[in-house]
Amino acid sequence: MRILVTGGTGFIGSHTIVELLGAGHEVVALDNLCNSSKTVLDRIETITGKRVPFAKGDIRDAAFLDEVFGSAHFDCVIHFAGLKAVGESVGKPLEYYDNNVNGTLVLLNAMRMHGVRSIIFSSSATVYGEAKTLPLTEDMPHGEVTNPYGRTKLIIEDILSDLYRADPSWNVILLRYFNPIGAHQSGLIGESPLGIPNNLMPYITQVAIGKLPELGVFGDDYDTPDGSCQRDYIHVVDLAKGHVAALKALKSSGNLQVYNLGTGTPTSVLELVKAFEKATGVEVPYSIKPRRAGDLAACWADASKAERDLGWKTQYGIEDMCADSWRWQRQNPEGYPEE
Ligand code: NAD
Ligand code: UDP
Repeated sequence: MRILVTGGTGFIGSHTIVELLGAGHEVVALDNLCNSSKTVLDRIETITGKRVPFAKGDIRDAAFLDEVFGSAHFDCVIHFAGLKAVGESVGKPLEYYDNNVNGTLVLLNAMRMHGVRSIIFSSSATVYGEAKTLPLTEDMPHGEVTNPYGRTKLIIEDILSDLYRADPSWNVILLRYFNPIGAHQSGLIGESPLGIPNNLMPYITQVAIGKLPELGVFGDDYDTPDGSCQRDYIHVVDLAKGHVAALKALKSSGNLQVYNLGTGTPTSVLELVKAFEKATGVEVPYSIKPRRAGDLAACWADASKAERDLGWKTQYGIEDMCADSWRWQRQNPEGYPEE
């Protein structure tokens, strides 16, 4: 199949492109590079031996999208492009709604105009809000989301559901990611956050390499086995493979499906620190800090629907994730080089 990957030079997009190429698909990457680097395309070429055509531009630019969709027929769009920093979204709600929600509307219009009706969307476990029971299953209703970023995911899920109801010839797959970490085993592509990381794994690797003095563990008084928050960390390569599996399951007639992409196993902050130290032999100094506002005590997936329907399940464990994140960090201490 020929696939348009929006957000293709980003963290998850780049790993997904590697897996798509490996599965024999043709790919065009689209990105405005607001949170990624063109160097990713060189790295993908080194890993796969294939140069991915690149469309540099913004998903909110209808004329640009018209050109992209006019240049070739696409069987499906995998839609990663979006802003994703929870904290930033609280201060910049209009930018988040414009980029993520308006951007998706412009994209969907362009797809409709060009007769492309298959989309796989990057949603998030954040749409479940505070869980009443764990693990989370896809049929649980949307919960209360406490920040604009999460709300953009909810709104886009609703837009795609309404679109499918209005025109059942659309093929929509909503993938709800849990916590992607790790990096490609080559150490050539990985997560390259700007400034001080907000997320746990890049913070740990930057402490381990000496760029940051210590990790703050946000709370050890939650109602969890060791008091720190539990999450479902998933290796980004497993997550990428989930997209290849979802593509395979796209029906030729219309359909709307939702899948959790997680491991089904919770890991606490303190357990992740220990696993990292074990996998890498590098000590991660930490101290306990107050809880971070808005954090859930625990969140993990029931991933059995994806296994049943897509024949997909994760292969990598928490120590693989740590070892691969560390390899990426060590080989690229400053992230991707400036172009
Ligand atoms: P990322 O920032 O690395 O990748 C997103 C890419 O989209 C970036 O390369 C950025 O330059 C591009 N982009 C942003 N706005 C754009 C626009 N208007 N036009 C064109 N390109 C644009 O993030 P990621 O971690 O790879 O996440 C990919 C998707 O998965 C996002 O939609 C994110 O919300 C979602 N998601 C991520 C996580 C996570 O923890 N990383 C969890 C759940 C869901
Ligand atoms: N966390 C932490 N210290 C940090 C960053 C994160 O203790 O410097 C904790 C955070 O409180 C949460 C978990 O690590 O319980 C995962 O946070 P992250 O931001 O990576 O993902 P989230 O699940 O919040 O999207």
